[in-house]
Amino acid sequence: MLIGVPKEIKNHEYRVGLTPAAVKEFVVHGHQVLVEDNAGTAIGFTNDEFIAAGAEIAPDAATVFAKAEMIVKVKEPQENECKMLRKGQTLYTYLHLAPDPKQTELLIASGATCIAYETVTDNRNALPLLAPMSEVAGRMAVQAGAHYLEKAQGGSGTLLGGVPGVAPGKVLIIGGGVVGTNSAKMALGLGADVTILDRSLPRLRELDDIFDGRVKTVFSTVDAIEHYSSKADLVVGAVLIPGAAAPKLLTGEHVKNMKEGSVVVDVAIDQGGCFETSKATTHQDPVYVVDGVVHYCVANMPGGVARTSTMALNNATLPFGLALANKGPKQAMLDDAHLLNGLNVHEGKVTYKAVVDALGKSM
Ligand code: NAD
Repeated sequence: MLIGVPKEIKNHEYRVGLTPAAVKEFVVHGHQVLVEDNAGTAIGFTNDEFIAAGAEIAPDAATVFAKAEMIVKVKEPQENECKMLRKGQTLYTYLHLAPDPKQTELLIASGATCIAYETVTDNRNALPLLAPMSEVAGRMAVQAGAHYLEKAQGGSGTLLGGVPGVAPGKVLIIGGGVVGTNSAKMALGLGADVTILDRSLPRLRELDDIFDGRVKTVFSTVDAIEHYSSKADLVVGAVLIPGAAAPKLLTGEHVKNMKEGSVVVDVAIDQGGCFETSKATTHQDPVYVVDGVVHYCVANMPGGVARTSTMALNNATLPFGLALANKGPKQAMLDDAHLLNGLNVHEGKVTYKAVVDALGKSM
């Protein structure tokens, strides 16, 4: 199969669909890979590295779209990309169609077979192609929080790890899933005093085992949020209620009662945020202050560490991508119901129920 990798064109998107190492895997399996000129240069994956891995370099996106049987990307296709897709071609990328009727129409019109990373499932009913980005965001949340606790960044001037003779900073993590667990690992690594709140008792038991008592696990109630947030130096918002907007767990009143110069990082901002005082920010202008508390609410945190995110995403997408190329998309999806769950649009029809429900398109 001929696989095409165009350069991402969304504003400030530096990730790339395939790393040179992933290209090599496709080539070793007998496929050809066409990578757009400088598709990965911004994050240190040069044309020369792609060529060494066995790819050919195409001068522009039009050449990639015209020749490739499968397009591998990161972000949803932009309008001019959708218009270059065609029937018989497979698109493998994040799509997020439910809130995006315009893109859905364009993909329907293209006739292409469109597989969305975010709806591929696994045996534990989890979303394996979303998890790596939650791992990245969870780890970044503590890194960002530690940075904004510095005095010159508007914080209280607190070092999360403390030093001998000075107590460590307190980190409160609301939501102990993939994001929360990764935040806890980073915060513990820095030597902070970590508390995780979750609504799921089984999950709290798992966290207690994972961290062997080194974090405090507390059942999530209004009372617990009120108590622990008033003592915290850093609060990380990491809740998810599948298919719903995030609940506003930390209220404006809670924020008023927090210490001057403390920091809140609302990772759940891509689902509307779990703090009442949150509003989405960007990597260019990531923070603002409410009642003396620094708010970091970047909606696409993994984009800030595009090189690590690209490699983490490729680790998860590669096995499914290889199956699509080796067996052909139809057989690969017939053989694997989890991959079939990724199919959102096929030959002019929406094939994913949640998108049909959201947009009223027929299946
Ligand atoms: P997850 O499903 O693995 O974990 C969510 C956890 O929240 C679960 O353990 C659940 O029990 C818990 N929870 C639900 N209600 C709660 C409550 N009232 N109190 C405490 N805990 C509660 O999800 P995840 O992958 O960790 O993602 C968390 C959030 O981060 C999601 O909103 C996701 O979209 C977002 N996210 C954002 C970015 C970004 O760049 N901003 C990147 C990745 C993920």
